[in-house]
Amino acid sequence: MYKTLDTVQIGGHWYSIELTKSCTVDDDMTNSGDTHHQKKHMRVATLISDGSPRTSSSIEETLLHELIHSVSHVYHATTTEDQIISLSEGLYQVLKQYGLKLIEEV
Ligand SMILES: [Zn+2]
Repeated sequence: MYKTLDTVQIGGHWYSIELTKSCTVDDDMTNSGDTHHQKKHMRVATLISDGSPRTSSSIEETLLHELIHSVSHVYHATTTEDQIISLSEGLYQVLKQYGLKLIEEV
C-alpha cells in the first residue's frame, strides 16, 4: 500500500490526490489515472486487473502524468496526450536519478 500527498497546489488551486484500490479509475475501465479539473481531483489506480499491485514506478509515473496534465491545464499549455506521455515518462526517468519520490510505501 502506498500513500502520497493528500493535496498539491498548482497555480492558485489545490488539487486532491487519491490512490484508488482499483485497476482503473474511469467508467470505460481503460485508464490507470485521471484528473477532474472542475473538482480539482486526481485519481491513480494502484492495482492491475488481476487484483495484484501495480509496480511503484507505474503508480508514480501515472501520478506524475496527472500532475503534468494539471499543470498544463492551470497554465493553459497546449499539450496533447502523446506529449504528456512523453514528458511524464522522460521526466520520471531523469528525476528518479535525483531521488524523486512522489509516493511512499506504508
Ligand atoms: Zn493523460
